Amino acid sequence: MNPNNVLYLVVPCYNEQEVLPETHRRLAQKLEALAAGGAISAQSKMLFVDDGSRDATWQIIAGLAQSDPKVVGVKLSRNRGHQNALLAGLTVAVKHSDMTISVDADLQDDLDAIDRMVEKYHAGAQIVYGVRSDRSTDTAFKRGTAQGFYKLMEAMGVETVYNHADYRLLSRRALEELLSFKEVNLFLRGMVPQVGFAADFVSYKRGERFAGETKYPLKKMLALAVNGITSFSVKPLQFLFWLGLACGFGGFAATVVQLVLAILGKAPSTAAFVLSSLWLVGGILLTALGIVGEYVGKIYLETKARPRFVIETVAGRLEEN
Ligand code: UDP
Ligand code: MG
Repeated sequence: MNPNNVLYLVVPCYNEQEVLPETHRRLAQKLEALAAGGAISAQSKMLFVDDGSRDATWQIIAGLAQSDPKVVGVKLSRNRGHQNALLAGLTVAVKHSDMTISVDADLQDDLDAIDRMVEKYHAGAQIVYGVRSDRSTDTAFKRGTAQGFYKLMEAMGVETVYNHADYRLLSRRALEELLSFKEVNLFLRGMVPQVGFAADFVSYKRGERFAGETKYPLKKMLALAVNGITSFSVKPLQFLFWLGLACGFGGFAATVVQLVLAILGKAPSTAAFVLSSLWLVGGILLTALGIVGEYVGKIYLETKARPRFVIETVAGRLEEN
């Protein structure tokens, strides 16, 4: 057994009292099997993050942490949402593990993908994305909105992995770099690809929730989508600029036509004139707003102060000065 292969399974939990005992049982089995096979260290653990649950989630986690030395519990002071809870867990795990796998508490993600993720890690991948190959058990609504979401992200130029949610392995190295991203509006699916390094994929079948109901109502899904776009793309701002320019040109052309008509003695109707100047002024205003937006976009990217690059290795020797 290699003590360097410590795996932490990071599990965000919000009101998951119905599933937690079963989740713990299955994850513990998984860790045991992997450790027995030599793929991971026997020091590997499960880290459950209670995201300000209102039910008995924390009591269950605290109980498990007492009875099972392989369980670590982290309790957030209040509900901060899935992405923040996950980041909290990863932040705690980073110093104690060589790799982490983030997985939902509800057992929708096929746990056998963990074996393949660890294999890919041993083959050299720093990041392994779990990709859903089949979501036939999702409701048509969930499937439709999720797929629309990935398409929209793509159209907005946000680099994400299609059909990948937050089921992924991160090596300690990749995780440390991810944690150096200081932004507060988290959209991990967009941030992880920015980290870079050798990445690989594992596809799995998404099943049904083991128990309980979704903690991602439409409102939270929409918030995640809007955050994904506005945290990664300035395209909406640029769109304003081009829309304004198009309106402005249209208005300008219409005004010129009317002036020519007036010169030719065919006086245009007042309504047409008012309308064309409306477009002209509207267009100028939108263009101006778009330009301002462009600068606001720059400010917003600057205030994030994300790392501008991540160095993977340095070859050769740098002498101390
Ligand atoms: N979750 C969380 N905080 C929240 C909402 C959800 O930690 O505010 C957790 C939840 O307990 C689960 C994971 O995020 O482990 C994904 O949520 P869920 O399975 O309800 O989402 P769905 O699969 O329906 O998209
Ligand atoms: Mg789920």
